[in-house]
Amino acid sequence: MSQYTHPETIALHGGSHRADPSTGSVAVPIHQTTSFQFQDTGHAARLFGLAELGNIYSRIMNPTNDALETRVAQLEGGAAALSVGSGQAATTFTVMNLCQAGDNIVSSTDLYGGTWNLFANTLKQFGVEVRFVDPADPEAFARATDAKTRCYYAETLPNPKLQVFPIGEIAAIGRKLGVPLIMDNTAAPILCRPFEHGAAVVMHSTTKWIGGHGTSIGGIVVDGGNFDWEAPLGEGKGGERFPTLNTPDPSYHGAVWSQAAKPLGPIAYILRMRTCLQRDLGAPMSPFNAFMFLQGLETLPLRMERHCSNATKVAAFLSGHPDVVKVIHPSVMTGESKRRADAYLKGGHGSLLGFELKGGKEAGQAFIEKLKMFYHVANIGDARSLAIHPATTTHSQLNEEEQAASGVTPGYIRLSIGIEHIDDILADLKQALS
Ligand code: PLP
Repeated sequence: MSQYTHPETIALHGGSHRADPSTGSVAVPIHQTTSFQFQDTGHAARLFGLAELGNIYSRIMNPTNDALETRVAQLEGGAAALSVGSGQAATTFTVMNLCQAGDNIVSSTDLYGGTWNLFANTLKQFGVEVRFVDPADPEAFARATDAKTRCYYAETLPNPKLQVFPIGEIAAIGRKLGVPLIMDNTAAPILCRPFEHGAAVVMHSTTKWIGGHGTSIGGIVVDGGNFDWEAPLGEGKGGERFPTLNTPDPSYHGAVWSQAAKPLGPIAYILRMRTCLQRDLGAPMSPFNAFMFLQGLETLPLRMERHCSNATKVAAFLSGHPDVVKVIHPSVMTGESKRRADAYLKGGHGSLLGFELKGGKEAGQAFIEKLKMFYHVANIGDARSLAIHPATTTHSQLNEEEQAASGVTPGYIRLSIGIEHIDDILADLKQALS
């Protein structure tokens, strides 16, 4: 918990770092070290035995990363966080922390293409089944759940459809059945706090808006500290749903993570992720990248305001353009989609925007070729405006049927609107459309 309540202040002051105790450095120092000197053998034994928390080795923890983890956890209103080497690693860890071969998860169909591949193909090779359901029908999550279901997974503001996920409705279904909801909140930092709507875990690709400047790849997982991992399943005694947290772990002297975490706080989920997955699979974020993400975080609330106001103006402009068949942005949605956007996004509708050009694939590719200021890149969430043609790039590994299911049509263009002056953004779009 932060002593501050406003995100603008937490982004700058959240956590215990005030000034470096040995040098007075105001910026969080980059602790570019593999290892940390123990005070004595007793200290070393206590750290390894989790009797005391402290730095051991940078694969598992590092003070620069800790400053980032604390600030992001506070911004999301969670209990604790773990930084990792990419958003993909973060997603993988969120699921693998709960699943063993033979288990399943239920996921929204509206996903980033990389997450889709991980879920549909790679996790399957490890014996974890992902059941995809359409979030337009929240009850579909309940119908797909059985005794081996370990979590639900979804994105707050998934592109390309940009239909906001019904977080509260599905979190409530999950809580009734004892299943936690994991939210990828990459596209809606500051705008949405999924824990306030009942989610149990939040992850971000920090590569995107948190970093904000397109310099570094990273990911982070936040434990909401708000889920009962020990609840009984049916007539069970308790904890049957989550064997990885409630049965003795032979890799850590038989520790039961739900019990081992108790003296430290409601952090069983993230403690197990750090001590087991990060130890064994080894996907740490480098301290240098953690520093870059801390820099990004400092201006994130301010940037989100400008990202959102620019995107809303671009949506209005494109909606009135004769060559544009359809504009996809929460600000121009109606009905249930608008209700969800208004319920879950506060302070703006995000900076991702899609539109469909008359003329399909050829028109889409020609438009991309003509852009001058927009960068043609696979990234999103940069301070600069970005554009891409998903059917031939980000979603090209999906077959046609999968592309259609995820909302990618041949003439679809994805924009990630930056923080430049709106007149320059509109001028580049106008000349590329002309
Ligand atoms: N989640 C979302 C919503 C994304 O857009 C991305 C990447 O584009 C990822 C996760 C994966 O993040 P990374 O590229 O940092 O591995």
